Amino acid sequence: MKITILGAGTDASNLPGIENRFPPGYFVELGTENILFECSEGVRFRLEQMGQDYTAIKHLAISHSHPDHYVLVPFYQSIHNNLNWSGRYDEPHLLNIYAPKNITREFWDMWRMHHPNFPEGLKTPKLNFITMPSECRVGDAKLSGFSVYHGKGLVPAVAYRLEAGGKVFAYSGDSGICDGVIEAARNADVFICETSAGIDDEKSGTVYGHLNPRQAGEVAKSAGAKQIVFVHYTGLDSDEAMIEDCKVSGFTGKVVVGKDFQVFEI
Ligand SMILES: [Zn+2]
Ligand SMILES: [Zn+2]
Repeated sequence: MKITILGAGTDASNLPGIENRFPPGYFVELGTENILFECSEGVRFRLEQMGQDYTAIKHLAISHSHPDHYVLVPFYQSIHNNLNWSGRYDEPHLLNIYAPKNITREFWDMWRMHHPNFPEGLKTPKLNFITMPSECRVGDAKLSGFSVYHGKGLVPAVAYRLEAGGKVFAYSGDSGICDGVIEAARNADVFICETSAGIDDEKSGTVYGHLNPRQAGEVAKSAGAKQIVFVHYTGLDSDEAMIEDCKVSGFTGKVVVGKDFQVFEI
């Protein structure tokens, strides 16, 4: 399993400490199958920069509907136009989308809001929505979703766990302190974890639903994860301060402050 960070940042770009950090995106290569985690603003440009054809993505897992994670309308339109204009449309072109229920139920309403008169006669890639949390197969791998606490509990949100060849990749999505994120990260070889809350922010873990570095470390420790990778951080705390704060949790595994285009092979 090869994991590439496409975006370790947030929706606030180019601030001190997060220069060149794109919004969340993680690309996992499984050999024959690949999975893109998060459909964030600009993620297709990041895929192009790493030499991946974004129109060839067949599996897309989205954690929740906040706009720093979910801009599927322009992504889908771009795939559609790219394939039609290049003559590369392959019948049937299918994109499997794993996402919480508000996305799987409401995407087409949002699409029709943008496109009440979508051009006829063009070939249209098919979207197959799979509502998370659930378990499913992606090639030889198992993809599982776990409900997590986020957005004061008002936004359906999912953490992901991907198991293949005896290895485990986990991704928190946006999450506060809850059982779901621990279950997702159980014994993970690489646990990509949001740390949107600052070191001094003790409230977000239980009120809004974000983790600070110490709380992220506590999740990783409870889960028995081997390595935690911080992402979705604001840049207000230094890398060194985040790592020190994480150590307070007692987590003894490897701690990494993730960067765009950083690669993890497990
Ligand atoms: Zn969010
Ligand atoms: Zn977010």
